[in-house]
Amino acid sequence: MSPLPPGSTLGILGGGQLGRMLALAAARLGFDVVILEPEPDCPAARVSAHVIATAYDDPEGLAELARLAHVVTFEFENVPAKALSLLAELGAETAPGARALATAQDRVIEKTFLNAVGAPTVAFAEADTASGAIEAVKRIGVPCLMKTRRDGYDGKGQAWVEHLANAEAVFHRLGDRPVIIEAPAAFVRELSIIAARSRAGEIAVYPIGENHHENGVLRRTLAPATASQAIIDQAERIAAQILTGLNYVGVMGIELFELEGGRLLVNEIAPRVHNTGHWTQDGCEVDQFEQHVRAVAGWPLGPTRAHTQIEMENLLGDEVETWVKLAAESDARLHLYGKREAKAGRKMGHINRPMPD
Ligand code: AMP
Repeated sequence: MSPLPPGSTLGILGGGQLGRMLALAAARLGFDVVILEPEPDCPAARVSAHVIATAYDDPEGLAELARLAHVVTFEFENVPAKALSLLAELGAETAPGARALATAQDRVIEKTFLNAVGAPTVAFAEADTASGAIEAVKRIGVPCLMKTRRDGYDGKGQAWVEHLANAEAVFHRLGDRPVIIEAPAAFVRELSIIAARSRAGEIAVYPIGENHHENGVLRRTLAPATASQAIIDQAERIAAQILTGLNYVGVMGIELFELEGGRLLVNEIAPRVHNTGHWTQDGCEVDQFEQHVRAVAGWPLGPTRAHTQIEMENLLGDEVETWVKLAAESDARLHLYGKREAKAGRKMGHINRPMPD
């Protein structure tokens, strides 16, 4: 595909805050944006030229998207695979492609792929039935973590199994669905790396972020994190193995565990812009959103070095109501998503604060 000229239209499946920030970045580069999202009053639609308010796999909605958009991307990984196959049948260009989406949607396929390309993970086993889950827990040992293979996010759809006798109950509690059983990662830190691959196969990697979660939800990211050259080299090698292995086009978030001694394991991959990459908006010249637009539009990638160390803090639920106070912080940059309702724990915005030298 030759580079899309400004004035072309970018299609985005999904209309949340990631779609909104992608749309804003796309607009700055001269693109129009069309959002396909069932909720017409969503954060992304309100900053975009067009909105198609249908289900993600609605054939008519997808046909209109294919007609309007020169390239289609997505902002969350639970887009039904059917949506991408229908778009492909309609001749629409999509990036990232169906393989990356299918890999990230299923934790067993994901970890099998990661190990195949040489990206290390915890040991794991899979099960579809209660008796299979007991066998898998026996094989991995306790304690271990049981997770649904699909549809988990922000720590949902997973539970620890402390004793073999509890394996069956945990399997039922997770909804009698296919699961993965993971060995515990004895991590000292949770890190992530945001990486991009262009249509030409060029790879660009941002500095590592250090992530802190509360109740399974990201609270803050500090980046660039303090990390030895050996850790940086490992993270960059892992990113290149994954992006090349998937023939990936776009930005990807890769969540990592740092073990005692500095070895890295991959926890999971997100085939999209990522919450742990929001720091790049105020820490780098070209942020992850512009980078993703550049990659999917066939443009050259931008620089990824950091000019400022940033602490990104998520604003969850009614924390966003302190916006006047936050806006008065002289150095900080406030990013609000325009969501109508501040439900408990909902990601309403974030704030990027430069760290003192
Ligand atoms: P996930 O939904 O896979 O990203 O998991 C959510 C959080 O659970 C991670 O950020 C870790 O804090 C923790 N976690 C996930 N998998 C493991 C594991 N195998 N061992 C230890 N902690 C884990």
